[in-house]
Amino acid sequence: MSDSGLVITGLQAGITGKQILNGIDLRVGPGEIHAVMGPNGAGKSTLAGVLMGRPGYAVTAGSIHLDGRDLGALPTWERAAAGLFLVMQYPIEVPGVSLQDALGAAMTAKGLSIEDLDARVRTEADRIEFAHAFLDRSLNVDLSGGEKKRNETLQLALLQPKYAVLDEIDSGLDVDALRICARRISELAKESGMGVLAITHYHRLLDDLQPDVVHVLARGRIAASGGPDLARELERDGYAAYGHDEPAEASSGLNDIFG
Ligand code: ADP
Ligand code: MG
Repeated sequence: MSDSGLVITGLQAGITGKQILNGIDLRVGPGEIHAVMGPNGAGKSTLAGVLMGRPGYAVTAGSIHLDGRDLGALPTWERAAAGLFLVMQYPIEVPGVSLQDALGAAMTAKGLSIEDLDARVRTEADRIEFAHAFLDRSLNVDLSGGEKKRNETLQLALLQPKYAVLDEIDSGLDVDALRICARRISELAKESGMGVLAITHYHRLLDDLQPDVVHVLARGRIAASGGPDLARELERDGYAAYGHDEPAEASSGLNDIFG
């Protein structure tokens, strides 16, 4: 299908009084993995938020289509129902609601069967080495960064969105959790044709995610696109060539918190 894909055209957006995205063009086809890399403050989280229709952002120009459907006017839940899934940089804690409850509700809303959900959740948890004890706990409450991202990866696997937007899933993640989540997401792209837009400023995520295409987001624009070579170049040279002086790997713990 010619209009398949998550297609972003001329997207300009920001918050009240400040334009942050200055015209983004991107197309993520089914089963493709695209990485968007950029320094802190480049507009990466803004792009993720605008794609999901999170409140607080204003789109001033351009469009977002999912397999031909215009998402622009749709609220977040309808974008999710249309097949978009956002893994947030800092997942929300939901006291009183377990992962399994939330997942069951989301799957039912999408018309997916929840038969044997308990067993499927446990099988999937084992694949990503996620302890079963977490499955019945309140969603994301008192979970470490790595546990939250395993949690989100498990949701991805069972919800089978058409496209997943990952905003810095490497934030606050230990190396083992990062590797295991990135590999599972990469498998999902191949197994189920899920398209992935992975936003990050760390090169190390890409070793396991193995993106087909790497883009540089700088100053609210896609400044360059290329293959895995581009990611290696960024690791070596940072973003200076794109009008930013922060080396790719020079982020501190503070950048993890505020990035
Ligand atoms: P990234 O995720 O690439 O680090 P963001 O999209 O979070 O970048 O932010 C892009 C720019 O917009 C930054 O300069 C940031 O300070 C600014 N910004 C983002 N959200 C807000 C907000 N709610 N209020 C004020 N400035 C914001
Ligand atoms: Mg960010």
